[in-house]
Formats: sequence, structure tokens, C-alpha cells
Amino acid sequence: MPEQESPQRLPTMEEIRQRGYTILIPTMLPTHFKIMEGILRSYGYRAVLLENAGEGVVEYGLKYVHNDTCYPALLVIGQLLSAIESGQYDKDKLALLITQTGGGCRASNYIRLLRKALLKAGYGQIPVLSLNVSGLERDHALKMTPDLAARMLFAALCGDLLMLLRNQVKPYETEPGAAEALEARWVEKLAGGLSKGRRLRYRDIKGWYRQIVRDFQALPVQGARKVRVGIVGEIFVKFSPLGNNELEKFLAGENAEVVMPGLIDFCMYCAHSSMTDARLFGMKRAKGLVFALALAALEKMQKDLISIIRAESRFDPPTPFAHVEKLAETVISPGAKMGEGWLLTGEMIELIEQGVRNIVCVQPFGCLPNHIVGKGMMKPLKERYPEANIVAVDYDAGATRINQENRIKLMLSNAARPEEPETVTI
Ligand code: SF4
Repeated sequence: MPEQESPQRLPTMEEIRQRGYTILIPTMLPTHFKIMEGILRSYGYRAVLLENAGEGVVEYGLKYVHNDTCYPALLVIGQLLSAIESGQYDKDKLALLITQTGGGCRASNYIRLLRKALLKAGYGQIPVLSLNVSGLERDHALKMTPDLAARMLFAALCGDLLMLLRNQVKPYETEPGAAEALEARWVEKLAGGLSKGRRLRYRDIKGWYRQIVRDFQALPVQGARKVRVGIVGEIFVKFSPLGNNELEKFLAGENAEVVMPGLIDFCMYCAHSSMTDARLFGMKRAKGLVFALALAALEKMQKDLISIIRAESRFDPPTPFAHVEKLAETVISPGAKMGEGWLLTGEMIELIEQGVRNIVCVQPFGCLPNHIVGKGMMKPLKERYPEANIVAVDYDAGATRINQENRIKLMLSNAARPEEPETVTI
């Protein structure tokens, strides 16, 4: 059935900026998105990162989205609708921003679902904007100039670094809250440092990496190494506390150290997927070439970050993307590129190889791609790595938090402790 159109002309992106519309952004990666929110504000967009959560969000999602839609779509749309109805914003000067991956799964089509939900709720006048690098929704996409794209990219790299270090320091900090407080200070500093008009030099970015690593290294820590638990899965449910019922917090409360591959790996995977389209599926070669160059640049940046972490600290750096790709290829084709595709399987192997044998694979309801590359790959992985302790946890509107936590507790009761407990005092 054709999508019902909004009866009125919606403002363009430029009009939205000039007229001072508030642009609501759903929660996914609180650290990264806070820096990005600051960058968007420096470009004149009144961006607001949403923090509303709770049952109201799910209720709105269930009310306005068909219940066979994948759970992240339901949550994202529910969070936006719940914010609109909160009364906090002027509904006639409001816009909504969502990301589109440009891949073949429903993440590229949330925008249609959201527009449909807005019409149904009587908010057809609210424009929906897209954040993508695939040329989708040209009239209502955030204009990704090279300058803005570079700043967003560095926000993603710095966000990954902050997340990685916070997760490695927090379980051992002697002063409770010190790692999170340092992270918050850096988020603010980076939002300012990456804002429009500030000179953007790669050597300054590397200087920030170095300083961030030194600051985390200087936080006092103590105690024997805790059980490390990896989190993999569909991108929204993996990263968003709204999607995974604050999984990181729960694991910290269970005395575990959380290990989570970063956002930049997903960006590299998206570039890699465009190359695969050209190589395996005969799609545009020129596009494949552009993404090959982009991937090479990202890999170089990741390598620089890894070298700085190694040179400056005791922390475990991320695994290079090319290595994850090689690991994944041993069990799954690079042509498996719907949802998180082969990357999800690769991340599980990467974690096991790093000694992180306990893994929570988060699986949203209605997500066929990730059930195949996540749950579906557990058997071959367990055969190859019998020591692996992997649990698949389902997230959906009907699943209770207590059931999810009980499954994880059961997994933790089988958790393999490090053979030789290390002490991380300084
Ligand atoms: S990966 Fe799964 S959950 Fe995410 S948009 Fe695609 S189908 Fe939905």
C-alpha cells in the first residue's frame, strides 16, 4: 500500500536550521552521541539527545508501530513519540533525526515507519531528517559536508576510546565514579574541540588520544582482574542502555569487566559491505572504489589509535578491523552483510581470541539477520572454541528484565575466570 503523504510541505533542512527547530535524536551511544550533539549545535542545529526511557517508550512504540517490526525500530519510534507528547517541546518547531545505514535491512527503512507513525499520531507537520552517508532522503538529510563528516568521524573514534578506557578502569577504580566523571569531562572538552570553526588537525586529534589515555592511566585502581564479559549483537541493542535494559550497568553490578567492540568497526564494516556489493554482487564499481579508499583511511586511523594506547598505557587496545575480517572469514562469507552480518560473528571470535570467553549476544525481536549471524553461528563457534561461554539474550517488548538478567546470571555462574589472576594496581 503506498505510504500516505503528509498534507503539508515540510521544511527543508536549511529552513529547520534557520528557524531554530529543536531536533530530537534518539539514544543509542550516550558517549559518542553527546559529542555529536555538541558538534551539531556548533553548526546551528538545536540538537537534543533524548534520555527518556521506561515503559512509556515501549507503550508508544507498541501503539504506533506494527508489533512484528524489529524491536529497535519500536523503541526508537516509541522514544521519539513519547518525547513529542511529553509537552517539553513546541510541536510546530520540532524535527526528528534518525540514522540510516543504507544497508539492505530495515534500519534503512525506519524513516518510513516513523513518518507513518507521526501521521497516525496526528503529527504530520513534524519533519523527519536522516543522517546517512549513502545519499538517501536527499531533501531531508542532514547535509554531510566533508568538514562535518570529519568532525563526526573523530567524535566516533574518540567516543570509542572513552568507552574502551572507561570499561577497563571502572571495575577497579578506588574512587567510585572517577572513570565516569573523567569520561564526562572529556565528552564536554571534545564537543567543544570538535565544534565548527575550531581548527581540525589530525595531529591535534592524536594529541587528544594521548591525553585521554594518560588521564585514564593516572586514575588509581586496584584489585584482581575480574571476569571479562563481551557484549556483541545488533548495533542498537548492543550499545543503547534503552535497548538492552542497561546491560553494562547490570554486568558492572555483577562484578564483571565489560568488553565491547566499538562503533568505528561498524562504520568500517559498512564501507566494507559496499566493496562487497561491487566485488560479489556486481554493483557499482566506482562506489566500491570510493568505499575502499574510505576503509583504508579508517584502518589507518584505527591503527594510529591502537599504537597510542599500546605506547602510553597498560590498557588492551581494540583489535584491528582487518584481523576481525580474517577471523570471520574462517566461518562465514563476507557476503553475509545484512544487519551486523559477518562482523557480529567476527567480533565473537575476536573476543574469544583475546581471552574474553564469556559473551552476551544481544538479539532483538524481529531481527532475522542477527539471529543468523549471532545465534546461528554459536554452534560452529562452540565446536571450535569449547571453552567459549556464550549466551544469546532476547530483547523485546514482552521480555522481562528479570528473565534477561537471570539468563546472564546463569552464564556468569559458568564464567571462566582468568587462569592467573592479574592485579591492576598502580
Ligand atoms: S539489524 Fe535487525 S534489528 Fe537492526 S534494523 Fe535490521 S532487522 Fe531491525
